[in-house]
Amino acid sequence: TRQRLVIGNWKMNGSLAANEVLLKGIREGVENATAPVNCTIAVCPSFPYLGQVSQALADSPVSWGAQDVSLQESGAFTGEVSATMLNDFNCTWVLVGHSERRALHGETSEQVALKAQAALAHNITPVVCVGETLQDREQEKTLAVIQAQLAPVLALGEQAVNKMVIAYEPVWAIGTGLTASPEQAQEVHAYIRAQLNTVGAGNVQVLYGGSVKAANAASLFAMSDIDGALVGGAALVAEEFLNIATA
Ligand code: 13P
Repeated sequence: TRQRLVIGNWKMNGSLAANEVLLKGIREGVENATAPVNCTIAVCPSFPYLGQVSQALADSPVSWGAQDVSLQESGAFTGEVSATMLNDFNCTWVLVGHSERRALHGETSEQVALKAQAALAHNITPVVCVGETLQDREQEKTLAVIQAQLAPVLALGEQAVNKMVIAYEPVWAIGTGLTASPEQAQEVHAYIRAQLNTVGAGNVQVLYGGSVKAANAASLFAMSDIDGALVGGAALVAEEFLNIATA
């Protein structure tokens, strides 16, 4: 059985003041929980706040990560952040290939795989995001799109893939309030797990993302191949985020 994992993707939200409140709420919520929180919890702030987050969560069971990483090691890449830099802040996780980066910054699946590889080279766990658009789904191309997005990642091989996390985030469910039904999500998660199995990585955690909230988390987590969640909007409120983690 796989450990449950719930990651908050803060996207381009937050401030020193707002983060302080949110981090305190998450930290105290976990530490003061009446029952032990049987879930790995992490938050992913924007780069400028990694220092703040790593300090606020030091010695806490809550871990943190970044929202992106360069596929380069160092050098003339203005605006990029390397895995080595993330290591300076003790990042555990990094999101790679979020649909917003694929759509708005033209990231290709090959680049996403190289980012995952760069993270692994520095012992940071990549959370590889995949997901179809509404048009893909309506044209019944969902599984083909997922397969194409995963292919260069799976090509990194068994050892690498076993150290990753995969997040399935249907683009049409992100920030729209339209959650995939547990059955819709499970169908794709089962497919992702079958794909992972082809390289001997069938036990990797596969998270669902897209309008997850406390009210729908339990029914998603009840599905056999859904191992947790990647949460956007609902991760910006401590109580709601923790209610997802304990759903
Ligand atoms: P929402 O939870 O706001 O739909 O965002 C999901 C997401 O993109 C997390 O990475």
